[in-house]
Amino acid sequence: MHLLTVRSLTVRYGGATAVRGIDLDVAEGSVTGILGANGAGKTSALMGIMRAVPRVTGAMTIAGDDFSAAHTRGVVEAGVSLCPQNRRLFASMTIEENLLLGAQRTPRAVVRARLDEAYDRTPWLATRRREAAGRLSGGQQQLVAIGRALMSAPRLLMLDEPSSGLSPVAVIEVRELLERICASGLTVLLVEQNTHLVQALCTSVYVLSEGRVVGHDTVENLVANDLLSDAYLG
Ligand code: ATP
Repeated sequence: MHLLTVRSLTVRYGGATAVRGIDLDVAEGSVTGILGANGAGKTSALMGIMRAVPRVTGAMTIAGDDFSAAHTRGVVEAGVSLCPQNRRLFASMTIEENLLLGAQRTPRAVVRARLDEAYDRTPWLATRRREAAGRLSGGQQQLVAIGRALMSAPRLLMLDEPSSGLSPVAVIEVRELLERICASGLTVLLVEQNTHLVQALCTSVYVLSEGRVVGHDTVENLVANDLLSDAYLG
């Protein structure tokens, strides 16, 4: 059963086409990777699914429900959440205020329960919840950004390069959190350049090049054929 299907997704910026009619299928409960060289269109694909960029065409369904015509809020309400590239926290807002941004138009009691879940998942967030997010290290900010993306209780969590720019120690912390999230059965679509993280988390991988899907295989096959780093290098 596919939780997410994407058909003929195209994303344009003015006259430039970043994503050229790609198809994706993400199985329920799976962790699916998207690899590709810089500029391959990975971020644009995720932003297109979220309708967070203006010129998007294509058909998208989640659990069989078509959300192609939805605006970003509708995409979130359909059950899709994005943890964006570079984290995009509000530096002067507290950790808790940043988390709350992920659960808008949600009843207060539900928000409280989801905050508690976030604090259970990453306990130091609770003790430091009133600290400005801008005071945190990059790795700590990434854990907040992942927590914020989960505040809408998504059926599909999309992550755009969660290890980007982080120290090796911070990458391990991010990986451990993602391993726990994935083990809980949440469906994940992961854009990542860190091939160790892809191997640790993903079952299958799409390879993008110049806006097109040029490969789709299991991680096992890519590793067995020594193709994982080729996929990243493009
Ligand atoms: P990276 O790994 O560097 O993040 P990517 O695979 O995520 O790359 P995108 O960021 O989606 O690739 O970029 C795909 C193409 O779209 C590139 O040619 C890029 O220059 C272009 N592009 C991305 N964002 C914009 C924008 N806002 N306006 C114009 N062109 C853009």
